[in-house]
Amino acid sequence: MPGLDDLYQQLILDHYRRPRHRGTLTDPTIEVDQHNPLCGDELHITVRIVDDQITEIAHAGEGCSISQSSASMMSDAVVGHSVADALTMIEHFRRVMHGDVAADETILGDAIALEGVAKYPVRIKCALLSWMALKDGLINGTPTAQEDQ
Ligand code: ZN
Repeated sequence: MPGLDDLYQQLILDHYRRPRHRGTLTDPTIEVDQHNPLCGDELHITVRIVDDQITEIAHAGEGCSISQSSASMMSDAVVGHSVADALTMIEHFRRVMHGDVAADETILGDAIALEGVAKYPVRIKCALLSWMALKDGLINGTPTAQEDQ
């Protein structure tokens, strides 16, 4: 994707080739499926929550480099945090993707590399997919259709 910082491109590719937290948890607290029909991305996210903390998260599925690397970065960002903190991160990332605020690396971690995706409207949904899936899961506890985009 032209226009993305080289360093950020490398970070995205690194998460795509060596995804963190890849897989599926057994007996998860939350389980969510989401797909992005525009691109064909599919994600299956499982989360373990203990005492209001996200102790484990895993993502599985298929899709483009943006959706898959974003799922890896999102998982890295939220694991070990409280549900409330995770929702704050998700909202920040959503606003970054919509161009409302500048990305804050202290909140997003490696996912700051996706900031440039905001310039590509057709790819924003790819980047947001895992974050919106987690949000749905945390709020509803059950899978839902695509929304909040
Ligand atoms: Zn995609």
